[in-house]
Order: sequence, then C-alpha cells, then structure tokens
Amino acid sequence: MSTKPTPINWTKQEVQKFASDAANKLGYQAGGDIEKIVRHLGGTVRRTDWDSVLQTGSLEVIEERNFLINLSPYSGERRARFTMAHELGHYMLHSNLGKHPITIQRDGENNRVEWEANWFAAGFLMPEAEFKRLAARGWSDAEIGEHFDVSEAAVEIRRKALGC
Ligand SMILES: [Zn+2]
Repeated sequence: MSTKPTPINWTKQEVQKFASDAANKLGYQAGGDIEKIVRHLGGTVRRTDWDSVLQTGSLEVIEERNFLINLSPYSGERRARFTMAHELGHYMLHSNLGKHPITIQRDGENNRVEWEANWFAAGFLMPEAEFKRLAARGWSDAEIGEHFDVSEAAVEIRRKALGC
C-alpha cells in the first residue's frame, strides 16, 4: 500500500551532507550521468507527457530497488538532471530506499517534504567541499553551473546556502 511521504525532519545541512556522501559512495562525479545512478539503484526514468505525469505522480516507489521517475519530455537537460536528483532524494529520504512505498505527485506544493528533496538535489549535484573550492578560486555562477551541469539559478541558491 502506497502512502503519502512524511518529512525526515533533518536540518538542511544534514540533508545536504547525506546527499553529498551518497553521491560520493555511488561514484557520482560533477556533471556525471545521473540517470545511470538511478538505474544502478533499480529505478527507471520515464519521459512522459505532462497529463500522465499529473495522473501517475512524478515518483512512484513500489518496493526496494523498484521505483519510477516520471519526467516531462519538454524539460531541458539541466532541469531534468535536477528533477532526477530531487526524486532520488525522495527515494532515499522519504521511502528509506524503497522500504516504505510512496507516491509523490508533482503538485508544486512548498511543503517540508519538497524542501528536503530540493536540499538533497543541491547537495548531491553540488557537493559542499568542491563547490567551496571553485567559489574560492573566483569562478562565476556560469562556470560553476557548467562544471556541475546545473542551472545558474541552482548555483546561486547553493552559493547563498553555503555563504561563499
Ligand atoms: Zn518532490
């Protein structure tokens, strides 16, 4: 029986550290193939039209090593990467790697569960130590975005969160 997710209630820093550690353990490197990581964990990425995304939810966790991420076929590459990392955050934090089946709709709600998944995505795609090194070298948002293959908006938010 699939249920609505409950927040893990870790701090933003805790979630982001967990995400960076997870990326490290999974062998993910800056700008790497995130869909490959999803498949490695037993997940499937489906590019489907917006109406069926709304019907079926943007993430369906069926059981351990069995989950489905729905992406809009219209989102650009960087948006798709951030979304995959975000859904991976739900899978790890809110379903405990599939132990708790959940379905998450892409409803744009600004609730705690969504914040946590966004924090995870930022921590996964832009690990703190590496980000700070680049910022200290004076790299611009555009250069850092290129390095991590994320949007400049995502870089800006990460920069503020890390105060660098
Ligand atoms: Zn979400």
